[in-house]
Amino acid sequence: MSTDSSINDSAIGSSTTKKILILPGDGIGPEIVTEAVKVLETVNDKFALGLVFEEGLLGGCAIDATGVPFPDKTLAQAKAADAILLGAVGGPKWDQIDRSIRPERGLLAIRSELELFGNLRPATLYPQLAAASSLKPEVVSGLDILIVRELTGGIYFGSPRGIDETDSGERRGYNTYVYTESEIRRVGHLAFESARKRGGKVCSVDKANVLEVTMLWREVMTELGKDYPDVELSHMYVDNAAMQLVRAPKQFDVIVTGNMFGDILSDQASMLTGSIGMLPSASLAINGKGLYEPCHGSAPDIAGQGLANPLATILSAAMMLRYSLDMSEPADTIEAGVGAVLDQGLRTADIVSDGMRQVGTREMGSAVLSTLR
Ligand code: NAD
Repeated sequence: MSTDSSINDSAIGSSTTKKILILPGDGIGPEIVTEAVKVLETVNDKFALGLVFEEGLLGGCAIDATGVPFPDKTLAQAKAADAILLGAVGGPKWDQIDRSIRPERGLLAIRSELELFGNLRPATLYPQLAAASSLKPEVVSGLDILIVRELTGGIYFGSPRGIDETDSGERRGYNTYVYTESEIRRVGHLAFESARKRGGKVCSVDKANVLEVTMLWREVMTELGKDYPDVELSHMYVDNAAMQLVRAPKQFDVIVTGNMFGDILSDQASMLTGSIGMLPSASLAINGKGLYEPCHGSAPDIAGQGLANPLATILSAAMMLRYSLDMSEPADTIEAGVGAVLDQGLRTADIVSDGMRQVGTREMGSAVLSTLR
């Protein structure tokens, strides 16, 4: 991969320069990131985007090189970058080491250091892959949902929390479900702004019939909705949302919800699409900086074999252009390119079906590249 900082020297110093930090990570990470970087380099040239690439270490590869999963140098690179593209981290090689310096700690640390409060997870089903879904093709064909999940608050972070004993000696576990108005507002803005770039609809999911914290959530979302008259806002209880996602998922455009409900609903929605190798994600900070990565892990079982599907990472790169860099046209072009290679019948092993041609990681990446040229 040619991602050192010397590549785009001509762009350095330009007022439109955007610094992209590339973190290949572990397992299949370097293989899939290589393909995504080629795609980014191609659209960079084609659309004169002024992207400048720099590579860094995160996860197991960082442990091997420096002894820690998130070295200070990577933190400095991440802070200086406009956006970050990550492969995946972790693998059996590092499973036995001290918990506090495992590869996954690096991922949590970069998310918290950059205050990535908003997690965007699209569940998009390419019509060519409708048969891969567990739902009937007519229910999911053309599915295009974006789940916006609050990532740094809610019941996963609220205090007090713990397990203790009651006066009668019985064990008791408890967590605190808490959101401040400003936490709700900032993820709400992200959802409304995202809807403007898509289908213009936001469904806010809560449990306002039972939980006071989500009564506030609903009030704040309703207030915020007045600032976005062009976006259609609706509200739904989380139990109904879970049901609607499998009954009629195409009714949704953007779903915005808190950390715990989002955790559950985004996994449910991703399974509607059939393959984990196709799903990108973004985690965004208030300043628009984002960390973009496929939803899957480092797949050690297929690492180094040229079998991994690079499309989730390529689609993550497209999200990066759209959400952090406001470059919709090249993002659309990449996404259309992915659709075109599926139309050509090319499939990696994870999505192959009868009558399709199985290809490896590099061939799939090259096929997307040829649609861009
Ligand atoms: P995984 O997502 O890596 O793999 C699950 C299954 O999906 C495997 O059979 C794998 O071969 C397949 N798969 C995943 N991505 C694929 C792709 N692009 N193309 C084709 N097949 C693909 O999950 P896991 O096996 O539970 O975890 C493996 C390692 O990844 C662990 O160390 C875990 O901690 C780590 N992990 C990292 C992240 C991350 O970096 N964000 C997320 C999840 C897991």
